[in-house]
Amino acid sequence: MLIQAREVYTKAIFLEFQHQFEQAVELNIKCVTNDGNIFYPVNLDCASKERHVKVQSDNTLSCSCRMFEMKGVLCSHIIKILRDALNIKEIPTQYILKRWTKQARVECVQDMYGSEIQELQQTCRYRSLFLSSLEYQVKLRRVKKPIF
Ligand SMILES: [Zn+2]
Repeated sequence: MLIQAREVYTKAIFLEFQHQFEQAVELNIKCVTNDGNIFYPVNLDCASKERHVKVQSDNTLSCSCRMFEMKGVLCSHIIKILRDALNIKEIPTQYILKRWTKQARVECVQDMYGSEIQELQQTCRYRSLFLSSLEYQVKLRRVKKPIF
C-alpha cells in the first residue's frame, strides 16, 4: 500500500497517507454485524475515542471520523480495516482521488495553441487559468466592434 501510495500520490498527500498508515498499525478492531449491516469498531485503547468503519451497500467503506469525505485521504481506521479485516493489500481505486495524484499535475496544461505542455510544477494550474483568461480577453476584443 505504501509503495503504491508513493507512486500515485503527490508528496504532501503521500506523507499524510504514510502518517495514517503508521497509526493504523496500533489500532484494535472488532467486527459487528447488526441487521445484516457490517461495521467495525476501531480504537487505539480503552481511553481513546472509538470510531466506526461501516461497510456500505456498494461495498465501499465509510468511517465515523469522516476524514476521507473532508480531506480525500484515507484515515487510519479504514486503512486498518482494508489491511487486517479485508486482507486488501492495494488502495482500491475509488479511494484515490485524481486531484491528489501526480498524474493530475501532469495533465493540466495546454498552451494557447492547444498543444499539451507537461509540467510537474504546481503552478501549471494557475498558468492554465491565466492562458484561458487571455484567450477570453482576445475573444472579447474581437466581439466588440469599434463604433464609427
Ligand atoms: Zn476514520
